[in-house]
Amino acid sequence: MVGMTRNWIVNQLMLGEFRSYRDVCRKSVLVALKVSVLAYALNLAAHFLMYGTGLLPYSLREALVVATVLTPPITFIIAVGSYMIVGFAIHDLGVSRAELERLSRTDMLSGLANRRAFQDTVDQCARDKAMVVFDIDRFKTINDTHGHSTGDTAIVAVARILADAFPEPCLCARIGGEEFAVFSADMPFADFAALAEIARVRIAGLRIGAGAGAFGITVSGGIARGRAEQTFGEIFSRADTALYEAKTGGRNRIVLAPQADRPARDAAAVLPDTSTMAA
Ligand code: GH3
Ligand code: MG
Ligand code: MG
Repeated sequence: MVGMTRNWIVNQLMLGEFRSYRDVCRKSVLVALKVSVLAYALNLAAHFLMYGTGLLPYSLREALVVATVLTPPITFIIAVGSYMIVGFAIHDLGVSRAELERLSRTDMLSGLANRRAFQDTVDQCARDKAMVVFDIDRFKTINDTHGHSTGDTAIVAVARILADAFPEPCLCARIGGEEFAVFSADMPFADFAALAEIARVRIAGLRIGAGAGAFGITVSGGIARGRAEQTFGEIFSRADTALYEAKTGGRNRIVLAPQADRPARDAAAVLPDTSTMAA
């Protein structure tokens, strides 16, 4: 009984039956009706029992009239009121809990998923996976030259482009200071790589700030595919190695990580630069 009650409360805190105040009201009326019927039945049974054993101090007819007129409405009012008060409180707690959960998985600056949410999603996915990791090039210089808050503006601008370039159910995340990652499990790898390249080109075309002070930014990327059973750590490590190669190879490019089950001599390849291709 205690366990059932506990599970019920936990379920409601996850907004199981109490998704809105309307749901709480509807459920309160239903429960109150049931409680009223039960209370009325118990009341009648008690009166008939007392009558049968000769303990009823007044006539059965009067007793039944009083029980019928008073018990259902009073029980209904008390039950509906109590259930609503508890239901509203649980609904409010459930909404706060969901909001806290959302905040704990969101990067506050960019609005994208944070590293924890990203890692959980990759680890929980049981299909073939693809991941691209982007890092803004020479970001320290941007901060040093234009100031930290302009650096933040650049981070937000990159985040917008990524969120725009990769359709759901791709998951875009900011996984570190000026590092981003995108995950997909539902897209052919070639299509995912093409989107990554489109995003890189769009970012390279960005202007941060206005007028004479406006400047451009670029990102480097490492892209890797993973099998269903591979964890975030395994795929990320290969994507990160490819990212490092993109950096050392000149930046503003995306490098494809060799497949995990291929020999090391299977060299990483740079994705074709679509910005220089004819339309
Ligand atoms: P590379 O091209 O090799 O990636 O060089 P980088 O300068 O981008 O890399 P580095 O790791 O040297 O510098 C990253 C900088 O990002 C240093 C840090 O101060 C800055 N940074 C980290 N988080 C934030 C943030 O939230 N906002 C801003 N504005 N800067 C940040
Ligand atoms: Mg970095
Ligand atoms: Mg960087």
